[in-house]
Amino acid sequence: AKALGRGRAVFYSERLTQELSQKIAMDTELRRALEQEELLLYYQPQIDAVSQELVGVEALIRWKKQSGVMVSPAAFIPLAEETGLIVPIGRWVILNACRQAKQWKDAGVPLFHMSVNVSFRQISEPNFVCSVADILEETGLPPEELVLEITEGTAIQDEQETLQKLLALKQMGVRISMDDFGTGYSSLGYLKLFQVEFLKIAQTFIYEVSADPDKASIVKAILAMARSLKLTVIAEGVETEEQYRFLIEHGCDWIQGYYFHKPLSAEDMGRLFAEQAVIDSGH
Ligand code: C2E
Ligand code: CA
Ligand code: CA
Repeated sequence: AKALGRGRAVFYSERLTQELSQKIAMDTELRRALEQEELLLYYQPQIDAVSQELVGVEALIRWKKQSGVMVSPAAFIPLAEETGLIVPIGRWVILNACRQAKQWKDAGVPLFHMSVNVSFRQISEPNFVCSVADILEETGLPPEELVLEITEGTAIQDEQETLQKLLALKQMGVRISMDDFGTGYSSLGYLKLFQVEFLKIAQTFIYEVSADPDKASIVKAILAMARSLKLTVIAEGVETEEQYRFLIEHGCDWIQGYYFHKPLSAEDMGRLFAEQAVIDSGH
């Protein structure tokens, strides 16, 4: 039994070593990707539920390797958070999203907002507020047009420090959105405390909204609560007509999901803006 125990210990430590070396390899690759501009942003439209007009976009990071393979953020963001590489990556995301938003604005795209995901690790970095302020100044994007998406997990970590930073950004005009609402330690207190303006209902609730009465009740409750707090609610992961109908019926403000649009490259997004302008002027 002793021998087996030792064998197991060796096996585990080998596996850990292997995992660690895989992480180190990916970290090295990711650092290179950041330097060599293999990272890019896709943009997923957000639609007004009633008028179906475009109201904004969410920037979503992609890693396009030289081989052409696209790596999903789910495969590298957690590692970047662990190693701290999320700090320069996150800065790159905010800078490039703001630049792109300003370009579209200058090209005549009507007022809308650019939503960007920020990790706790990024906010906890001492220069976070300054670096966002610098980016806004450098790009000339009005602060009101930048929305930072945080999660409930972010809100509860280092509560006081996070709060101070987010309030400083709010004072500049930047707006805050609570992402994946309902999946973490949701608390109405946090929505109030962090002066959140947007609430995104997590995809897991939307997914079964027409099949699972419990999910439907949760979504209805979130919508009713958001209305009383005067928050703008965004449903994410809307894929079907049925889900869309349900959400309109219960007063959801904005929709984001494949039913309307998948995340688009900057080029395709530009084309969509152009098409919409054509449609608008044609009426
Ligand atoms: P998220 O913030 O919840 O983003 C929404 C995800 O749902 C995106 O996945 C989007 O492509 C996907 N999605 C949108 N509509 C639908 C739909 O109708 N059906 C389905 N099945 N999926 C839909 P994506 O782009 O793979 O991003 C995954 C996650 O990675 C994001 O989840 C976010 O947490 C993180 N992420 C992405 N970009 C960034 C970034 O720039 N910084 C940070 N810190 N995290 C990011
Ligand atoms: Ca998000
Ligand atoms: Ca989300």
